[in-house]
Amino acid sequence: MKTLGKYSIGMGDRFGHQGAAQLKAVIEAGHKGIDITPVWNKSNREHTIIGTEPSDVRKEADQVTAQAGFHKPYFVDADHINFDTVDRFISSSDFFTIDVASFIGKRATDEDIEAFVEGSLKYAGELNIPGIDKPLHVTAGRIREIAENYLFAAIKASEIYNKIEKEKGKGNFVPEVSMDEVPLPQTPVELFFILKMLGEKNIPAQTIAPKFSGRFNKGVDYVGDVSQFAEEFEADLMVIDYAVKEFGLPSNLKMSVHSGSDKFSIYPVISSIIRKHDKGLHLKTAGTTWLEEVIGLAESGGEALIFVKEIYYKALEKIDELCAPYADVIDINRSMLPSKEEVEGWSSNKFVDSLRHIPENKDYNSNMRQLVHVSFKLAALRMDEYFRLLEANETTVAKCVFDNIYERHICRVFGIN
Ligand SMILES: [Zn+2]
Repeated sequence: MKTLGKYSIGMGDRFGHQGAAQLKAVIEAGHKGIDITPVWNKSNREHTIIGTEPSDVRKEADQVTAQAGFHKPYFVDADHINFDTVDRFISSSDFFTIDVASFIGKRATDEDIEAFVEGSLKYAGELNIPGIDKPLHVTAGRIREIAENYLFAAIKASEIYNKIEKEKGKGNFVPEVSMDEVPLPQTPVELFFILKMLGEKNIPAQTIAPKFSGRFNKGVDYVGDVSQFAEEFEADLMVIDYAVKEFGLPSNLKMSVHSGSDKFSIYPVISSIIRKHDKGLHLKTAGTTWLEEVIGLAESGGEALIFVKEIYYKALEKIDELCAPYADVIDINRSMLPSKEEVEGWSSNKFVDSLRHIPENKDYNSNMRQLVHVSFKLAALRMDEYFRLLEANETTVAKCVFDNIYERHICRVFGIN
């Protein structure tokens, strides 16, 4: 049976050039005694924008692991798929992020809702979950609300899961259920009953990606109350633990943190809580590698710097179009974006410092960083030139990719000093 290790990291490589540098970060963690399973993920949206196929990700993963002599498990994740988009991922993926966000809030039949409420009433009242100090308050009304909100999504998840299982065979892939791309967070009580639904539907989820409180904007730090996040995150872990036993879910079911790159202010909390309870974690990062390519090219100077400046000018022109698909997961203050005229005069260092995620640097600009984050499409439109520059400046770019994943992500989240 394919099982995900205790610690795993989802890495996106939009243009398929940085797999080796990403893997190197995982291998380095292994040298420090921390085993992390690499997972290469790319969503349907990104494949469509760039014009790649899921089989390209498989090829890259197979190639870089073979070249590095990496003999541990690794996975290729069909990221955020649903019933309609999963087909082209089936043969090349062995990890499936089943996205049910769009079904949340839709109503299941009265019959299904009644049956779920009926079967859940024994949890009404004070629900004591080991590891959570205060009992959770659950009323029959609350259970009904949760069923009305989430049961349909769970039914859809099982339809998608069954479709994949039929093609790939039981146990031959890792299923994840994700609900993160929604406006409202799920509370620990909701998570508890959602897991009950997944158990009833026989979905052997190995990871679950809820939506947490606070903003998880792409490529920048967490925005929200860190202590509230800590409390919620810890309660969620305890809920998962209890649900595994109570609902017969896989014993290695663990938390998946989506939009997990760059959330520096909550990494210490995540790191200490997973170690306190000896729990696993899947950290999904994605577009951060594309940003490191831009930074690496800026650092290389010359025509590479000119190229990334041009990408930025174009991004300013097309800002509405580029931001639209990501509206829920970015927050750009447009008045803080440097103009084309300003950036024309910038040195390599100034451009690098504006983009590289070092909050203490006075030139760091999270608005510019988010805009460039969603602008990868512009590089895809000049693919030949872009690839030529990536290849000509490979050493510099690969070092940026490695440092970012290893030092700013893996070390902080998985506790390597
Ligand atoms: Zn996600």
